[in-house]
Amino acid sequence: MNETAAVAERRPTRALLLNHRSHPVTVGGGAPVSVQSMTTTKTADVEGTLQQIYALYGAGADIVRCTCNDADAAAGLAHIVPRAPVPIVADVHNSHRMALAALEAGVHCLRLNPGNIRRPEHIKLIASEARDRGVPIRIGVNGGSLDESLYRKYGGRVTPEAMVESAQMELAYFAEVGFDQVKISVKASSVPLMIEAYRQLSEVTDHPLHLGVTEAGPPPAGLIKATAGIAALLAEGIGDTIRYSLTADPVEEAKAGRQLLEAMGLRERKGLDLIACPSCGRAEVDVIQVANDAQVALEELKIPIQVAVMGCVVNGPGEARDADLGIAAGRQKGHLFVKGQVVKVVPEGAMVEALVEWANRINDEGIEGALTHADAKAQAEADADRAALLDDKGADANHSEQTVELIRRHLAEN
Ligand code: SF4
Repeated sequence: MNETAAVAERRPTRALLLNHRSHPVTVGGGAPVSVQSMTTTKTADVEGTLQQIYALYGAGADIVRCTCNDADAAAGLAHIVPRAPVPIVADVHNSHRMALAALEAGVHCLRLNPGNIRRPEHIKLIASEARDRGVPIRIGVNGGSLDESLYRKYGGRVTPEAMVESAQMELAYFAEVGFDQVKISVKASSVPLMIEAYRQLSEVTDHPLHLGVTEAGPPPAGLIKATAGIAALLAEGIGDTIRYSLTADPVEEAKAGRQLLEAMGLRERKGLDLIACPSCGRAEVDVIQVANDAQVALEELKIPIQVAVMGCVVNGPGEARDADLGIAAGRQKGHLFVKGQVVKVVPEGAMVEALVEWANRINDEGIEGALTHADAKAQAEADADRAALLDDKGADANHSEQTVELIRRHLAEN
């Protein structure tokens, strides 16, 4: 099945270029959906901020945002931008001077909050300067800091219509100075509100959209909220770049963003995709422990591979047939399989080690090459173990045949 078939065709948007010297990123215009995150360091701390930017890049971020909240931060950006591995966006809130200073520092994009920079002449001044330098701007409308007049106009409530109007007002100022290199976000901490705001916005503009649920909070609830909002929109073909706003190490945001796009078939898999059964009464091993150990060991390899960890040999191999590599537990052993074919049987304690060995082999030699190393006796041994387990425990994990027998007996007795 084509993985993207379940995702609607992407809404056409204009393309913007974040013109980094060695890692330019296009947003919109059919470019791959990009992942963003934001540093939590003081931007004035150049080395600390660069360290975090590199960590975010390693975790899957395509674009990184840093705050530009004072003169020291702007000076920090001047040192950070030339050394950063990805485009840098300066986050500017209250001061148009900070926006101009960030442009001077060479940032690849600005983020402005229309609720905070209010004077039209300041907005137009920033837009003119960005236009002359070829630097795009994100209009970052935020449900929590909507312009007071719009708040009143919409009955003292933040509505999707109010958020869309706020973005359009800002766009109009930009249009006055002939600037259209703009992407827009209409984030809210309420998932239904942000979904509706982005839907309405996508109907009235072809500017690329930056998706996010703002202030989603700490994981796991924050991850769930952000995923619910972002994934719903992506599935409708809406969205060109995404950010998870988590109360956590920003590396978690970058990882989550990348993983979501890979899971939806919107980006190529760069690393591990571990699938594991949820375990049940039939499990022959502590599936949670083995899956966690496998995750840690395999993630380090940085190999684009799908690996299955299954708790029993009765259902496991069948359910994980399509995985590149998998292991299923049974009778104190691990049955290792490559694309559904058993290639080796290892002791239970060596399951994770065997997965690492074969993941490397697949990476070096491909699936076909790895299969040439299959142990000729492994399939027969696995079949015998499976048959013995079926004999021992029955074909039904829930023992329903025995239950039915018991019910019959009780009915007969009464
Ligand atoms: S039947 Fe086997 S593979 Fe399926 S959940 Fe239970 S232990 Fe895991």
